[in-house]
Amino acid sequence: MSTIDKFAGKPLRWNDGAIVHAVQSTQVEGEPMLWTLCDRDVPDGEAIDEDVTVTCPACLRELSVEP
Ligand SMILES: [Zn+2]
Repeated sequence: MSTIDKFAGKPLRWNDGAIVHAVQSTQVEGEPMLWTLCDRDVPDGEAIDEDVTVTCPACLRELSVEP
């Protein structure tokens, strides 16, 4: 099962060791791509599919403007 299938439709988070980011995912030519709402690349396998509280200010700002 690919990362993208595993995470399809779930809220994703990434703890970078200091703060928790909100993560977006897509698939490009069959390869999963994960990045934070503040435009950082998420290291392979480090995203989590738990709805933990986002603490990154930039990600929170992006989340707040989503429909
Ligand atoms: Zn962030």
